[in-house]
Amino acid sequence: MVSLVVLHSISLPPGQYGGDAIERLFTNRLDCSAHPYFESIRGLHVSAHFLIRRTGQLLQFVSCDRRAWHAGASQWCDRANCNDYSIGIELEGLEGERFTAAQYAQLVVLLRALSRRYAIDAVVGHEHVAPGRKHDPGRGFDWGRLARALRWSRARLPFAPQD
Ligand SMILES: [Zn+2]
Repeated sequence: MVSLVVLHSISLPPGQYGGDAIERLFTNRLDCSAHPYFESIRGLHVSAHFLIRRTGQLLQFVSCDRRAWHAGASQWCDRANCNDYSIGIELEGLEGERFTAAQYAQLVVLLRALSRRYAIDAVVGHEHVAPGRKHDPGRGFDWGRLARALRWSRARLPFAPQD
């Protein structure tokens, strides 16, 4: 049962926005010869439930009732393998860089919808469930902004500043 949401950032190639490379990657249709960076991720089989583009556009790749391959080796509290019990949301962006107002707005809508369907204990970053190995969404993601918009208990947003 889903009890966790893991936030990520992705752009392909890194720092380049728009285009359909992310969709292609998540649906195993990326032409790895189309860009030198794509060659470096050839053979990578990953997916996420959702992608929120810079414009706020929301795309879904995997049913929330199915496992997606977004977290890899990971752990939250005492539970390993976050893919088994989490929903993965990718924000189009670059680790350490900021995200758009439209993305926060769409993220809030999506998280509210998910919390009506599932008992979400926490929303965390990939960097928090795979520390040292992963660094997304990174310092540019404003957890305080998300917390203010959602008005959820801080227990569910453990990385929002406590103010
Ligand atoms: Zn990630």
